[in-house]
Amino acid sequence: GGIADWVARRAERRPAHTALVDVATGARHDYATLDRRVSARAAALVALGVGAGTRVALLGENSAAYLEWLFGAARVGAIAVPVNHRLAPAEVAHVLGDSGSTVLVRSATFSSLAEEALSGLDDPPAVVDLGAEPGDGTVAPHPAAGDDPCVIMYTSGTTGVPKGAVLTHDNMLWNAINMVTAGPGIGGSEVTIAAAPLFHIGALGLSALPLLYAGGTVVVVPAFDPAAFAELMATEGVTTQFLVPAMWAALTRLPSLPLQPALRWAISGGAPCPVTVIEHFTGLGWTFTEGFGMTELSPAALFLDAADVLTHAGSVGRPFLHVDARLVSESGEEVGVGEVGELVLRGPTVFAGYWNRPEASAEVLREGWFHSGDLGVRDAEGFVTLVDRKKDMIITGGENVYPIEVEQVLHRHPAIADVAVVGVGDAQWGETVLAVVVASGALDPDEVIAYARERIAHFKAPRRVEVVEELPRNATGKLLKRVLREQFAGQAE
Ligand code: ATP
Ligand code: MG
Repeated sequence: GGIADWVARRAERRPAHTALVDVATGARHDYATLDRRVSARAAALVALGVGAGTRVALLGENSAAYLEWLFGAARVGAIAVPVNHRLAPAEVAHVLGDSGSTVLVRSATFSSLAEEALSGLDDPPAVVDLGAEPGDGTVAPHPAAGDDPCVIMYTSGTTGVPKGAVLTHDNMLWNAINMVTAGPGIGGSEVTIAAAPLFHIGALGLSALPLLYAGGTVVVVPAFDPAAFAELMATEGVTTQFLVPAMWAALTRLPSLPLQPALRWAISGGAPCPVTVIEHFTGLGWTFTEGFGMTELSPAALFLDAADVLTHAGSVGRPFLHVDARLVSESGEEVGVGEVGELVLRGPTVFAGYWNRPEASAEVLREGWFHSGDLGVRDAEGFVTLVDRKKDMIITGGENVYPIEVEQVLHRHPAIADVAVVGVGDAQWGETVLAVVVASGALDPDEVIAYARERIAHFKAPRRVEVVEELPRNATGKLLKRVLREQFAGQAE
């Protein structure tokens, strides 16, 4: 039932339309084939004792089979648990134990990671080969209720230990509706590439599920290579594409980009998108928009319509159709135009809570609103600009500094290829503003400081600039600021 019904209905109505393309194997499955394969995966799970509410962990690179297992689990009312394959064995073991997964579906690529993880568990799950060809089993679909859990999606772990967000079938449905009704819209002739990892909500909630809901085509790649990706976009005739900003930024650095005549809508989200990247693509004539999402919101929450992208670049826009959003003070009052407040949200895409963590859930789900931990300001028209996560805000000499604002300024510096701004402890100022930069040419730290001071208030400008080879990022290219804070804490200038 639930999301698996989407595939079944499409298989009845447009059986021969291509649903999934697997670039690694070359397989192209139409909806009728996908539906059969989903049923066979479901039958294989049932044979292992999987039923309604059972957790089924998925560990693998992006593939068509990965999505088949996810829908197969849904078809029998089981809960899929996508696992980040970049985790260490002990962390994978933690996710398997925390979620209580009784089956682990893993690809051959990660068999030794899986083996090591299982050796740390008292009651290890049964292991299934993700890439094995499905048999011809079928099952009677479990009739899912809208509020039955569909997936336990772990957060990115940017600020701490990943938390298992329980997303229901209704969450996924309303997220898909939000996506297909946004921007230029998503219809049945759409083509996208699932390029960001499917074990995070971005590629699943913004690429795969909305397109399959609409009856479109999802091309799946096992890894992201910028040049190969750009070619693939052109040859598959991609019409709608979501990527995280680090991936879009990588495309801007290609010596040339194939023409994309079919492309109607490019979307960035998951982390702040440098305005320079937005300008690059709008300069090519693309409809390039930015959205704000979170695992806990399934994930689409706010987006900037194409018509507003040039006048409001840097803003994450306004709520999707079925999302309520507000900016509130510590005491929960809505803040005024131009004032910083915490972004809180309400609506059918808000998750059901963190798996097995009632206290953490109660902390963020209060008075009917989900508290995001992100700070933003809105203008008179309701456009929201994120200023940063509460946890990343810097307080220096009593002044609040929002690192994203400083980063956006430094991204324009000609000798800076990448930048992260963090606060580090300082005897005099409490915290001091540190810019950690990747240089793209000769770079003089004092000149960078002077450059910032010419453009933003002196207290916001970095007092210290450190040059590194590369910034620490997670699987979706998010900056791991906690790693930088640790690395540069207490170091003398
Ligand atoms: P964890 O909760 O484990 O620390 P995480 O918050 O990074 O990790 P996700 O749910 O993947 O995990 O990411 C949501 C966060 O990503 C948001 O709370 C916000 O801070 C950031 N984010 C998402 N989209 C944008 C955007 N367009 N601009 C700025 N930040 C964004
Ligand atoms: Mg988070």
